[in-house]
Amino acid sequence: MAHDTERLSCKAFIEFIDDYLAGTQDAAVHKAFQAHVESCPCCGCYLEHYKKTIDAAKRCCCNRRDPMPEIPDHLIDAILEAREQA
Ligand SMILES: [Zn+2]
Repeated sequence: MAHDTERLSCKAFIEFIDDYLAGTQDAAVHKAFQAHVESCPCCGCYLEHYKKTIDAAKRCCCNRRDPMPEIPDHLIDAILEAREQA
């Protein structure tokens, strides 16, 4: 797939995030990606939140030493009841 790696658009930047986080970008794409994140505050913010979301999901699902606390039944019932009323 051909991409203009000299200047990434914000849309192309987002398409390359998974490769960036996996470390599988080729050198030209990586250079353009870094240049974009350094010059575009919106994409820089998006990337930070993307990473934090992945970290939070991993902590919730994969941390056996500090698992999520049990969710009380009354809270589940209240949420389900609120959804039915919405
Ligand atoms: Zn951008």
